[in-house]
Amino acid sequence: SNTYLSSLPTTVFTIMSQLAAKYDAINLGQGFPDTEGPADIINVAAEALKDNRNQYAPLTGLPELRQAVAESNRRFYGLEIDPATEVVVTSGATEALAACLMAVVEAGDEVVLIEPLYDTYLPMLKMIGAVPKCVRLQPPHWKLPEEELRAAFGPKTKAMILNSPMNPAGKVFSQTELELIAGLVKEHDAYVICDEVYEHLTFHVKHIPLMTLPNMRERCMRIGSAGKSFSLTGWKVGYVTAPSALASVVAKAHQVLVFATAPNLQRAVAHGLNKDDSYYKSLSADLELRRDILVEGLHRLGFETLPADGSYFVVADTSRHAQGRTDVEFAEWLVEHAGVATIPVSAFYDPEGAEPPRNMIRFAFCKKPEILHEALRRLEKAL
Ligand code: PMP
Ligand code: GLN
Repeated sequence: SNTYLSSLPTTVFTIMSQLAAKYDAINLGQGFPDTEGPADIINVAAEALKDNRNQYAPLTGLPELRQAVAESNRRFYGLEIDPATEVVVTSGATEALAACLMAVVEAGDEVVLIEPLYDTYLPMLKMIGAVPKCVRLQPPHWKLPEEELRAAFGPKTKAMILNSPMNPAGKVFSQTELELIAGLVKEHDAYVICDEVYEHLTFHVKHIPLMTLPNMRERCMRIGSAGKSFSLTGWKVGYVTAPSALASVVAKAHQVLVFATAPNLQRAVAHGLNKDDSYYKSLSADLELRRDILVEGLHRLGFETLPADGSYFVVADTSRHAQGRTDVEFAEWLVEHAGVATIPVSAFYDPEGAEPPRNMIRFAFCKKPEILHEALRRLEKAL
């Protein structure tokens, strides 16, 4: 069998969720909300299921969903997108990532990545035969180091993956950082796969798509996820916005990988995207409240936390409590002895790269306030 895949470990999210189940722990590991998404969206899907919307959808997505994606680009970012040629609906952002990478990257090409990184990026690159060039954000402020970033770009650079707001770091890239990235991308004639699944989950900072910067429209493939925007992570409906020359190639990759995405869910996601601004405001406001409960509680327990301006996640420094344990050992200890599951942040670094930091764990705060309070009580008791 394929040597790379046979030796690829099971994802840390599955491992920690299994441990959480084993120890009856509160699962602040894998990032999924513990409340369902809006009932009206779910009802539209249920109606569509009963309304015989159950055969193959068009390859690039239902026209009503592509229209809603284009409209959302206009409403939030002032981007003028042609729904017929510049949107591709995918089965989750995960498929979108694979399709975008396949659309522009070939074996031997270099791809710039920023660590800590989401765990599917590296395996996808490896399967294509591309070469990752990782740049590490610097704790405690998740600073983007300019010289290292510059050095990661070279004559073989074909693309970059930029995840903002970022998993696991909770970082939202600033205008200045985006300008630096855009400059390097243009200088090296590269593409950018913009993983913006947490675009609507920011806390008093503005998410700026790289695609909105001057001359970046033609180079960016912008990825969104209904899972994150509507708290329906199991649905796996994603969407790519890209200039038509790229979108048509992304569509070819989608044709080969999946072909078409569940039509009933697509109809419901179109309904979701068209919700008014108040929905999106309360989505981020509710989540911010949860972040604050968790972060304040962790501070009371003596944890330092790193900035978390967006996403479902906050990273805490374990140094004061870990008693020499690595992040992996500490996370295992916490799930067993405190009954709280987290994710060790070293899992988000290239296993073939330099030694990663071993003093950080990631908490997901997309959980009910009472669950977060209970997790904090458990931590207090155990530590
Ligand atoms: N990118 C990032 C950064 C994510 O955190 C996730 C989901 N956890 C995904 C992509 C995948 O999204 P989806 O579930 O829509 O495939
Ligand atoms: N994106 C989610 C997280 O980071 C998990 C997705 C998964 O389990 N693959 O927790």
